[in-house]
Amino acid sequence: MLNLQSKFNEIVYLFNMRKKIVAGNWKMNTTVPEGVELAKAVLAKSGEVPAEVKLIVATPFTHLCPVAEVLKGSAVGLSAENCADKEKGAYTGEVSAAMLASAGCQYTILGHSERRQYYGETDEKLVEKVRLALANGLDVILCVGENLEEREAERHFDVCGAQIKNVLYNFSAEDMKHIVVAYEPVWAIGTGKTASAEQAEEIHAFIRKTIADKFGAAVAEETTILYGGSCKPSNAKELFAQKDIDGGLIGGAALKADDFIEIGKSF
Ligand code: PEP
Repeated sequence: MLNLQSKFNEIVYLFNMRKKIVAGNWKMNTTVPEGVELAKAVLAKSGEVPAEVKLIVATPFTHLCPVAEVLKGSAVGLSAENCADKEKGAYTGEVSAAMLASAGCQYTILGHSERRQYYGETDEKLVEKVRLALANGLDVILCVGENLEEREAERHFDVCGAQIKNVLYNFSAEDMKHIVVAYEPVWAIGTGKTASAEQAEEIHAFIRKTIADKFGAAVAEETTILYGGSCKPSNAKELFAQKDIDGGLIGGAALKADDFIEIGKSF
């Protein structure tokens, strides 16, 4: 049985059934005109990236409509960086999943460590956010990852496993077709420190197994799992060569179109 299972996993891997994605998380950077220029530069060079690699830009809320105009009709996807955990109503300053969809987004990042750390984003809130995003036709890029203290205490498997279970185990196998996981070790985000390819692969494989435990091997094998944390042109190739790493969620390097495109060419 185990043999059959690993054969199946091998076949899925060989036939490249998982989507490869390189997504740029612009965070709170660029003015609207600068963002529009960056999107135009990414679009202009996007043809250099192999067709099977999906490029996505995740922009601040203010940039979504004009960037959607730039990307209209192209293969480059548009994502938000967050959405509200409420449907609509008196929630001043919040932006709903329905608003994002109407602005032209196809994706939203959820659960980024900066939101967990600075804005009290809990797994409970994330369940609501994922539910609303999916209900409004958005695909979700769900971020998980341990901080330095947790890594040093060798709790990274526990932490990532719990984040996956607390959020994703509330959804169905069908929902999983619209969910991408991004493993982002907090100690590697914006620090210049990258997880080694072995460290990243080890935890990606563990995340895939945690998904398989609930949804079965076929769903797990089709789930795209991205690596994020100081991923750049110089290290993307080695990371993306790992069996369970299906691309990257890119912060700093996504602010330069050339670097972002180079990363897209790294498979
Ligand atoms: C991120 O914040 O999603 C990220 C991966 O940032 P950086 O690439 O700058 O580490």
